Amino acid sequence: MFEKARLKLTAWYLLIIMIVSLLFSGVIYYGVNQEFTRIERIEKQRQQEEKEGMLPTLQQFQQQLQQRGSSPLRIVIRPRYDPQMIQSSRMRIITILGLVNLAILLLSGLAGYFLAGRTLRPIQAMVDEQNRFITDASHELRTPLTALRSEIEVALRNKTLTLAQAKKILESNLEEAVSLQSLSDNLLELSQNGRPTNRNVFSSVSLTDCVEGAVKKLGKLAEKRQIRIRKNLQAVLLQGIPDRICELVIILLDNAIKYSPPKSTITITTKKTDGKAILTVSDQGIGIEKKDLPHIFDRFYRANKSRSKDTPGYGLGLSIAKKIVHMHNGTINVESSLGKETTFIVQLPIT
Ligand code: ADP
Repeated sequence: MFEKARLKLTAWYLLIIMIVSLLFSGVIYYGVNQEFTRIERIEKQRQQEEKEGMLPTLQQFQQQLQQRGSSPLRIVIRPRYDPQMIQSSRMRIITILGLVNLAILLLSGLAGYFLAGRTLRPIQAMVDEQNRFITDASHELRTPLTALRSEIEVALRNKTLTLAQAKKILESNLEEAVSLQSLSDNLLELSQNGRPTNRNVFSSVSLTDCVEGAVKKLGKLAEKRQIRIRKNLQAVLLQGIPDRICELVIILLDNAIKYSPPKSTITITTKKTDGKAILTVSDQGIGIEKKDLPHIFDRFYRANKSRSKDTPGYGLGLSIAKKIVHMHNGTINVESSLGKETTFIVQLPIT
């Protein structure tokens, strides 16, 4: 598809260049031809005058000058224009213009093909990215859907299904449905991030309020897992999209809780330095292996597969977090020591 589009674009480039080039050649030929026609006309007129004896010959002219006592003239001989020569000059100009146009056709064909490739490359990358997104998303959706379907099918085939068993199956189905809903929310989020929507309006955001909100929202979950959340907050106001900034804090805090053992401590810090708002979320959890660090912000990437598999998630949280940070021209970094701790550091410009 890419190659076909590239050839089509090259053909369009060529068409435009050749129209311009042929137009120029036409104008050049028209100008030169006018000049030849004028010379031919003058030449014909001179020949006619010579024939009719209206013009003195050179000898007659010199004699006339001698009689008048004038010195002989220094004579500049004007070339005579042979009609055949003019015709062959015309042909030569046509050939030269033809060759120039052929060279332009070849050169612009090559340049056009190269430029079309460069123009289409980002579009191709976007299409590839979208295809990958759809493939990954369908793959992720298939697993919980298959589990849901087989569970329902087995239940339907069971003729002696008791009410208690049915309730248990429904509970499990509900769990899958909730997980699928969160997956579809995340997918929607990823496909919309970066696009200007009504929700993406920059205004003043209190990073501190976002942290307080996130702690309030996820506090129960942390409590259930006996995890203590320590806040070290400096009031920070920045220009950003309020919902997105708060969502970023929730993602990081949610991960810290998910990947921390009971009785550990999570520390959230906010501060202002050099015109930047800094948010750090540190935990004393499972940590991330060095080899996984470059990939954790990729879509659907889950590090430590064996350990993450008991933790709910689809590997989309951090890619959403990264998109939010980029929307605000900020940076997000991670430092981790396997089995010990992980710290996410977000820097966002205040204005
Ligand atoms: P999810 O948590 O749904 O798997 P994320 O995109 O949020 O997806 O995270 C990607 C991966 O990065 C996780 O699967 C996990 O392996 C790793 N990770 C993220 N945050 C932490 C953390 N605080 N501690 C340890 N590992 C983490």
